[in-house]
Amino acid sequence: MGRLTNWWRSRVLERERKRFSTQDWDLVRERLPLLRRLNSAESGRLEDLALLFLRDKHLEPVQGLELTDPMRLTIAVLACMPILRLGLDWYQGWYAVILYPDEFAPEREVMGEDGVVWVEQTAKSGEAWEQGPVILSWADVEDSLKSDGYNVVIHELAHKLDLRDGVANGCPPLHAEMSAPAWKAAFSPAYRDLCRRVEAGEETSIDPYATESPAEFFAVASEAFFERPGPLVQAYPAVYAQLEAFYRQNPLGRS
Ligand SMILES: [Zn+2]
Repeated sequence: MGRLTNWWRSRVLERERKRFSTQDWDLVRERLPLLRRLNSAESGRLEDLALLFLRDKHLEPVQGLELTDPMRLTIAVLACMPILRLGLDWYQGWYAVILYPDEFAPEREVMGEDGVVWVEQTAKSGEAWEQGPVILSWADVEDSLKSDGYNVVIHELAHKLDLRDGVANGCPPLHAEMSAPAWKAAFSPAYRDLCRRVEAGEETSIDPYATESPAEFFAVASEAFFERPGPLVQAYPAVYAQLEAFYRQNPLGRS
């Protein structure tokens, strides 16, 4: 959806609000502790964005998964957390969210350095493709409701934001008031530090999966930023500051 005029936006919202019952919303609010940290202006804004998200994106359950309205709302609300202060335009250019009941294992042809091609099958909880769909396992979405630092929806949508400049490199397009060198100066040492800790078998403040690549580091740090900002700011304050500037939110001030 392009930029909506305020008038058009409120017309659309008026209609979309009627699609879901008060009970649906109550259930979603009850299941998502993340929402309780928002003030009423923020949660109102998030709920409006979620409705516009559902109007804009097609949720496609596969393998017999049955989607209910509270499930739709849950996905949309979580998907809109990262863009609460950025707007839905940041999710332009793709249209589908594919939902598997559980982890899925897509078959991929992989070519080794010697030119030999084989088929690889790895179980995944989520995936995001440039210009393509977001793919999620509903079981993992349910695991993402506890506000314990794991959130597959925020993770995959963070990849989508990263991919907006065409490359998954752990750096989304930055706002005019931000600086790419400052971003790099925050993320590179944090990434190296986490890799070192994982190699040394130390406890880590964020999911060690972040050491897979700078792109995974950004996605995992984004999960931590929204879900468990305390440990993130303690371990990597400069990363927290960059994420705060990028997302234009300060989850630490909320919790
Ligand atoms: Zn990832």
